[in-house]
Amino acid sequence: MVEPDPPFNRSTSRQRSTLREAGIQIERVLVSKPRGFCAGVEMAIKALVWMLRIFGPPVYCYHQIVHNRSVVEAFEKAGVVFIEDISDVPGGAPVMLSAHGSAPQVVKEAERRGGFVVDAVCPLVTKVHHEARTRAKRNYEIVYIGHKGHDEAVGTMAVAPESMHLVESRQELENLELRSDRAGVALLAQTTLSHFEWEGILEEAKARFGDLWLPGREDLCYATTNRQKAVMELAKRADAILVVGSANSSNTNALVSVGKKAGCERTARIDGPDDIDPAMLESAKTVGLTAGASCPESLVEEVIAYLAPSAGVEVLSVIDEDEYFPLPPKLRELLAERFGSVVDDRKVTAADALAELEDLS
Ligand code: SF4
Repeated sequence: MVEPDPPFNRSTSRQRSTLREAGIQIERVLVSKPRGFCAGVEMAIKALVWMLRIFGPPVYCYHQIVHNRSVVEAFEKAGVVFIEDISDVPGGAPVMLSAHGSAPQVVKEAERRGGFVVDAVCPLVTKVHHEARTRAKRNYEIVYIGHKGHDEAVGTMAVAPESMHLVESRQELENLELRSDRAGVALLAQTTLSHFEWEGILEEAKARFGDLWLPGREDLCYATTNRQKAVMELAKRADAILVVGSANSSNTNALVSVGKKAGCERTARIDGPDDIDPAMLESAKTVGLTAGASCPESLVEEVIAYLAPSAGVEVLSVIDEDEYFPLPPKLRELLAERFGSVVDDRKVTAADALAELEDLS
């Protein structure tokens, strides 16, 4: 489907000239669907805006609420203070815990410090925490596929540290030694990995452990899976692919590696149009475009404007998403108390909520 309507076909003279100077004219932008915000990110952003509206600045947030530079900067401007150590929260201050999930001791410490605490963990991360807790109680050894140091991996590993082993590669799994008195081996994963990365280790684990337990529904979340399927379709048709998202966004980086694995070597991550290297688009006629799960649509629109495709924008639709995650229960209760009735959160998007930040700044 060719989409001729704004905002997809806007461009600015500065942006046009940058590519024109490099002798590049993009014919078509193929934009994938789905892309950008997932249900967990929608929920977390809206929740943090509510915290600001109710308590006023400063509101403290443990870890970046979602891994996107522009979103974090917008919240900072409006008075959110992002912290990496929960003991940096002044006693009694309102606190939000990020969408990536926090270690149980962080949640406890936040509550001990006495302010109003909202945990904006994505329910799909909570599912993995639950699997880890249950398997550990049943005396399983747990192999967790994740990225060392990533907020989600750190929070999940802290659920059952004595039973869990973080691996990043087949090699690390091969070298892993597990207790022989275990009831079994469970294989869990960070929700935002690339399918290729996860499948390689899964294969190895199946071959190695006869007593392997896998969750009924895989831990890689629907948003990760759908965006990766879509980027694989882009790779079949695009000369180059741009993935909009920040460097610390795991699912964004996974999209880049999937795009390359699927055959489009010229796949690159950008935070926005300023990061586009014209050399990468040399002789490209069709440019594929997608965005990580924490990237606002406004950045996708800016990239399209920069590329100014002569034949317009085509949406490559792979799957429709309609997932919705309600606000955290404690925040819902507070809203009901404050406003006397249940707030209909479904009608508000995270993009609307972010636009409101300007007024709160
Ligand atoms: Fe939840 Fe998946 Fe979004 Fe992470 S990427 S916040 S797990 S829906």
